[in-house]
Amino acid sequence: MTEKLYYQDAYATKFTAKVLECTEDKQGYKVVLDRTLFYPEGGGQPADMGTLGGVNVLDVHEKNDIITHTTDKPLEVGAEVEGEIDWERRFDLMQNHSGEHILSGVICGKYGCDNVGFHMGKESITIDLNTKIPEAELPWLEEKANEAIWTNAPVGIRYPSKEELDKLEYRSKKELEGQVRIVNVGEYDCCACCGTHVKLAGEIGQIKIIGAQNYKGGTRLELLCGKRALQDYRKKNNVANEAGRLLSVPGVKADSAVKNLLAERDELIQILNQLKWKYFTQKAEQVAEGTENILFFGDGLNSKDMTHFADLLLKKGAKRTAVFSKNGEGFAFVLLSTEKDARTFADEMKEPFGCKGGGKPDAVQGRVTADKKELKVFFEGKGFLIEE
Ligand SMILES: [Zn+2]
Repeated sequence: MTEKLYYQDAYATKFTAKVLECTEDKQGYKVVLDRTLFYPEGGGQPADMGTLGGVNVLDVHEKNDIITHTTDKPLEVGAEVEGEIDWERRFDLMQNHSGEHILSGVICGKYGCDNVGFHMGKESITIDLNTKIPEAELPWLEEKANEAIWTNAPVGIRYPSKEELDKLEYRSKKELEGQVRIVNVGEYDCCACCGTHVKLAGEIGQIKIIGAQNYKGGTRLELLCGKRALQDYRKKNNVANEAGRLLSVPGVKADSAVKNLLAERDELIQILNQLKWKYFTQKAEQVAEGTENILFFGDGLNSKDMTHFADLLLKKGAKRTAVFSKNGEGFAFVLLSTEKDARTFADEMKEPFGCKGGGKPDAVQGRVTADKKELKVFFEGKGFLIEE
């Protein structure tokens, strides 16, 4: 049984221990010590990282009370080694784990629901609750949770007897056996937990809900606490300020300025489309009656434009109409045929022009990597009138 030093003092960063085992495996070396400060992955909290006797600790797991450290290099069995945990990482996990407890405690207390899933990811923390939380309630719940920070509520850890535990109201994900570890944050939360926590809620700094979505009939909340919340605020503040600068409005008004910009853009697209279609109609009118096959070269046309224009030309009585528009190294095209041989043209353009695309016998669309001259020669050879 490994002595768990992180339960004696969650703030200790250095320790010495004796190497009991060291075996090589696929991930590196598996090291067992007589005691450790390295918290093993568990209860939703990721493992600590750091160094042990000068080698790197990459992962830590616990099984049957034995804690195994995965290291990148071997350690001598029997040696006394110094260990140091990555404190920045651990404190971040403590801030976020304690913050999660408070928010879960506040929400479960209000709705009588359960926290049925907890994950501390690299980017954010997620908690799954088995009830639908109205979005309008989130700001209030967030503030209630932050009240624990503002009042610097103390975090208590205790190991109650079976009798005490029976009388205690606490949150737990599963039926617990053996000695139960209870973590409470003032009156805000009381929960069975094996993780490491801050001593005072003030150390958490901030609890921020950054996302909420319906999840398995309940709600999944995404949150950030402590330094992560500050970094996220900084990033989003910079984004808002930069967007505001570009739009010549204060950062907090960037969203409404973007909405106005999008409305303007939609209006311009509409005007542009009207002009384009007017132009297509005029162009189509210029084509002589009785032209059987016609190809039009355009620029910057999308597939909707090309189809519309090819269709207009078809309505003039043509049998086959093609519209090509310059697109990167080659051309995008639409080819319509009342003779149901559109695919033949696409097939024949495969070899010389690397034609990609397809469609139905009366309509194909795709791309070719050819220049205008080559395409002209090809289609003139097929009896097409070329227009630009
Ligand atoms: Zn916990």
